[in-house]
Amino acid sequence: MENNSSNFIKNIIKDDLESGKHDHIITRFPPEPNGYLHIGHAKSIILNFGVADDFNGKTNLRFDDTNPLKEDIEFVNSIKEDVKWLGYDWDNLFFASDYFDEMYKRAVLLINKGLAYVDDLNADQIREYRGTLTEPGKDSPYRNRTVEENLELFEKMRSGEFGNGAKVLRAKIDMSSPNINLRDPVIYRISHTEHHNTGNKWCIYPMYAFAHPIEDAIEGVTHSICTLEFEDQRPLYDWIVENCEMESKPKQYEFGRLNLTNTVMSKRKLKQLVDEGFVDGWDDPRMPTVSGLRRRGYTPEAIRAFCQEIGVAKTSGVVDSQMLDHFVREDLKLKAPRTMAILNPLKVVITNYPEGEIEWLDAEVNPEVPEMGTRQIPFSREIYIEQDDFMENPPKKYFRLFPGNEVRLKHAYFIKCEEVIKDEAGNVIELRCTYDIETKSGSGFTGRKVKGTLHWVEASQAVSAEFRNYQPLILDKENDEEEEKSFLDRVNPDSVEVLQGFVEPNMKDVKSQDKFQFFRHGYYNVDSKLTAADHLVFNQIVGLKSSFKL
Ligand code: ATP
Ligand code: MG
Repeated sequence: MENNSSNFIKNIIKDDLESGKHDHIITRFPPEPNGYLHIGHAKSIILNFGVADDFNGKTNLRFDDTNPLKEDIEFVNSIKEDVKWLGYDWDNLFFASDYFDEMYKRAVLLINKGLAYVDDLNADQIREYRGTLTEPGKDSPYRNRTVEENLELFEKMRSGEFGNGAKVLRAKIDMSSPNINLRDPVIYRISHTEHHNTGNKWCIYPMYAFAHPIEDAIEGVTHSICTLEFEDQRPLYDWIVENCEMESKPKQYEFGRLNLTNTVMSKRKLKQLVDEGFVDGWDDPRMPTVSGLRRRGYTPEAIRAFCQEIGVAKTSGVVDSQMLDHFVREDLKLKAPRTMAILNPLKVVITNYPEGEIEWLDAEVNPEVPEMGTRQIPFSREIYIEQDDFMENPPKKYFRLFPGNEVRLKHAYFIKCEEVIKDEAGNVIELRCTYDIETKSGSGFTGRKVKGTLHWVEASQAVSAEFRNYQPLILDKENDEEEEKSFLDRVNPDSVEVLQGFVEPNMKDVKSQDKFQFFRHGYYNVDSKLTAADHLVFNQIVGLKSSFKL
């Protein structure tokens, strides 16, 4: 996949290859299978797979499954699907849990070297003993257990003699280090929990900070790329690689995470939206998950182009979500067939058009791409237009339909509004119009001009469809005091609008995930979950225009 932009990680890799530090590179994408991937993960995937591609390297997909309480095979499967959909294929598929034996051995090695000990303090005490940024920590009373005692206790932890939380294994580093991560971090904990991969084999599990560098080293990963919040963990990462005597010496590099306006970007929060019923599952079209974006109709090409454009930097910022919309418009502009859809139908009867007659008109599928050919659309005495395209008492400069006014029907004729039919409540339910046969589209008619052009769908052949238009799921913070924890209070109550209308008859055989540009409405995708044989559902991907400028 082409990738022309440069970034600081690419430059590091280039230097490492040129200086001979490495003769090939290996990266990895290491998700924890505790949720679905979001577009922030997509940035990490595109970076890891992208730099490896650029330098003929390899990329592993590795599930960082060291916390069985939150992990599930459903997430493993969805992550694999999402990585593939984004356009990448891993060289190897690994599970951190495949290395549990090796990790255990390395922990025993640390104990033997006097660099790890079993601690009986509980989590609160450990936190208390750890000290603060301004005060050094103090030693646990168990810090000076002998190697023999530690080996015996760790073995007992493993064989299940202690309950959850009764003991932990800690690295013995420096309780007064200015870097709190080095104040004897916990590296193993007890958790009597079944694991999706190893079943009940283990009741102790390694902590992320211990497991991750070992996983990287076992796989020969050269450049371990992670997000900025791990910067302070780098000295611990190096300490573990060194003291566990790993043969291969991976190096960690950090980049800024992606944040987008009008959404939340953390699996924990997204899970809350799902569990508390704010959305219809992880793949709800309003979600920033890869599966939600796919169902909404975003394309892998657009997501990759977006990630290239935002680049990779040493700082995190918030990116305007309209920028992603810009890239999906760019991608679909030349790919999506154009067609007419009526979202809020108003019946129009053309009184001087012969009853029972249908004519078929030629229309281009995409005027910007002549190779996409033409389609046939029917025209007859009865059609639908949008309710919004008629006003009984229009303001000045309203060029659409009103009593006595003439407009152009896209691909068809000029029609003029002669009469307005209302129900008993006074609602407009039908318009009576006349058409002028001389004005047929493509006939070269120049007799007179009209200012408005409306889209329409012929009534007898129209296919019913449901349309779902979206607004942002999360409203912007109004001020800085609205702390993060209140994101549930900022869920937009009007983020979806469901409409029942019509599409052209040539749309009756569309397939799930097919994408179209509806004239004047924007880009739409056939919903993959709600569409059934007799029920077509379209998700609005994006509107046509944006104020966003690159
Ligand atoms: P979350 O906070 O959403 O749960 P995470 O970092 O815990 O995300 P992991 O499964 O551990 O999720 O992430 C896998 C990889 O994706 C990590 O290398 C992580 O740094 C990266 N990643 C996660 N979120 C982002 C983001 N918003 N931008 C860029 N990379 C990200
Ligand atoms: Mg995580």
